[in-house]
Amino acid sequence: MRLDGKVVVVTGAGNGIGRQTALTLLERGARVALVDLKGEWLRETQVLAGDRGAQVSLHVVDVTDRVAVDALPAAVLAEHGRIDGLVNIAGVIHRFVPVLELERSEIERVLQVNLWGVVNMCLAFVPELRQRPEASLVNIASLSGLVPFAGQTVYSASKGAVKQFSEGLYQELSDTGVVVTTVFPGNISTNLSGNSGVKMIDAGGRKVRATTPERTAELIVSGMEKGSFRVVIGQDANVLDRLVRLVPRWTT
Ligand code: ADP
Repeated sequence: MRLDGKVVVVTGAGNGIGRQTALTLLERGARVALVDLKGEWLRETQVLAGDRGAQVSLHVVDVTDRVAVDALPAAVLAEHGRIDGLVNIAGVIHRFVPVLELERSEIERVLQVNLWGVVNMCLAFVPELRQRPEASLVNIASLSGLVPFAGQTVYSASKGAVKQFSEGLYQELSDTGVVVTTVFPGNISTNLSGNSGVKMIDAGGRKVRATTPERTAELIVSGMEKGSFRVVIGQDANVLDRLVRLVPRWTT
């Protein structure tokens, strides 16, 4: 999909990977509907976009709020007149502890935002995306959705569920113009993992290499442009080797 003149909705656009993805899409000539819980952070993203800030609209929405999410497509259409893409990046992590040490409320929030947030957004936007001859839907899973990490058990479960939901949707939409891409970032230096002070170690005890939001955003956006099915980001070669065996089609 060419991005010039297209309208793309990005959740989690107030920080980290979501913000950087929105800025990268703007550089490629897209108009972007920025979605996040935090209005001030969205305004910062708009300021960072400089002259391209005129090409964005701001939507303060909690992706777990089904009623608010269902109202979003109409709000985006009112601002931009069309919708060509959706990138689901909003997410939360829990404390890096064994699952038995988590409060039920922490577990529920991670599942609500990471899984239900993606489901809500897809249910709201797929009917609109299907109207277009060429559209792109990107869901951000995680390496831990393929290979679970101790101390991140519920997060890993939420991302494993996102993987299956997203790849199922890819199949269901294969006879439409909507290409669904699932992205599997490893360790990225932002709030969710990079600032936690915890080194990500894979199931074989190997350290997972960190990557940056800029590189991640670049791969997300190029995955959209190429219509990739899976994109894996920021892994050591030995982790990738194992993923190649696990994952039949991937892009790095
Ligand atoms: P990452 O490293 O994945 O970019 P960040 O913590 O830097 O993670 O950014 C996640 C973004 O997702 C933040 O801007 C945060 O406000 C947003 N977010 C988290 N939960 C929700 C939610 N329920 N609805 C909308 N946005 C959310």
